Amino acid sequence: MRKKKIAVIGAGIAALTLAYAIRKDDLFDVTVYAAKNADEIRNGRIPSTQIHFDRFLRTEERFGIGPYGDVYDVKEIELLVGGQKMFKGRVNARAVSIDQREYLAALQEGLKRQGADVRKRRASPEDISLFADEYDLIVDCTGKIGPVVDFPIYDRIRNAPVAPQRVCSAGMFRGLAPDEEQKMAFNIVPGLGELFETSTMTRHGPARVLLFEPIPGSEMDCIKGDKGPDVFAKEMLGALDAYFPHIRERVDPNEFRLVDPNAYMRVAIKPELRIPYATANGTLALGCGDSVALNDPITGQGANAASYCAEALYDVLAEHRDATWDSALGERYWDRTREFATKMTEWTNGMMGPLSDSFSELLGRATQNQAVADEVVGLFLDPIQAHRVFFASSMLEA
Ligand SMILES: Cc1cc2nc3c(=O)[nH]c(=O)nc-3n(C[C@H](O)[C@H](O)[C@H](O)COP(=O)(O)OP(=O)(O)OC[C@H]3O[C@@H](n4cnc5c(N)ncnc54)[C@H](O)[C@@H]3O)c2cc1C
Repeated sequence: MRKKKIAVIGAGIAALTLAYAIRKDDLFDVTVYAAKNADEIRNGRIPSTQIHFDRFLRTEERFGIGPYGDVYDVKEIELLVGGQKMFKGRVNARAVSIDQREYLAALQEGLKRQGADVRKRRASPEDISLFADEYDLIVDCTGKIGPVVDFPIYDRIRNAPVAPQRVCSAGMFRGLAPDEEQKMAFNIVPGLGELFETSTMTRHGPARVLLFEPIPGSEMDCIKGDKGPDVFAKEMLGALDAYFPHIRERVDPNEFRLVDPNAYMRVAIKPELRIPYATANGTLALGCGDSVALNDPITGQGANAASYCAEALYDVLAEHRDATWDSALGERYWDRTREFATKMTEWTNGMMGPLSDSFSELLGRATQNQAVADEVVGLFLDPIQAHRVFFASSMLEA
């Protein structure tokens, strides 16, 4: 039987995880269509900041993904409200912070070294018709600027917002001393938004990561537009001055700047979940990653979910390698990923509104009990359990 041919569009976590998986077992032929080559990714703007959790790292091991350079291990997550330390929980498995530019560039280069067919091409909707003639399956992994394929919106999310709930400004800095190593700090300013602080490894050495998430239109929504790296650093310093004095006191004003002029980004995400299968000119098209499950980074789930869904997708393809690939296969993939995608999305959306009674109660107990603090941190590694805890009170009422 001839090997089925798969076109993977994109070169982010979803696309590359899937491509490595396919290459490993060699059950199918894969072509990756990447809008940017490795050099452009490495020397471009940061697409995000990033913590990868244990499940992600196990998927990498399974598919032989890597090496990709130095990482920064995150061993604890601390919650602060209005600058006051509430509790610090231990990460009971691995979690690493990476510079996604280095990560994705190294993975694309590694794939090419294996002899994979990686082509530089920004696929257009017209290309989908061409790919439909040439391939047995198209996988749209085009991330938050996608999808190229018109996947239907999944309209059964209980708390889908109609507009972005946060405006993200993220940068990798020098000139900010950590208060403790191997920690991620989750700072909440009630009614105004959040700021996440951790470290990462860049090709310029260690950097301090700040991910600022004000509520749009709030007084804390003070970084506007894209006025270049120096203004961005100045505006971030202004935000620390005004709202995070406990972080500002660790800044060396003479040294505080981005590690390189591209080490920053701004985005406002309107969360959106799509049913990840459709038919294009008679050929099955599947979506994977942000192109079909786009969420605000407040819970740090997007890349972890992209990896999870890419692995699930690969397993479905391998299990049904000799079957006809049509919408029934798409439905199987959706069956496999729906619970994870919907619960991750609802929990993440929930974290941007008033916290539920059950979640608030758990946070309260975490301030008194280290085991509960560790349990709260564990929720970031398990969005299905996080959803169960977050919506426990509303489920009791229902
Ligand atoms: C500030 C910030 C912080 C975050 N922090 C975390 C975190 O800590 N943990 C976590 O798990 N997630 C985090 N996320 C989310 C995470 O970055 C994304 O969910 C993840 O990168 C999605 O991967 P992806 O492969 O689906 O899409 P992307 O990484 O966006 O990749 C899409 C790829 O497709 C390519 N592409 C797009 N259109 C085309 C086209 N037409 N043709 C060819 N190629 C195309 C792009 O160039 C890119 O290579 C964060 C996001 C942001 C914005």
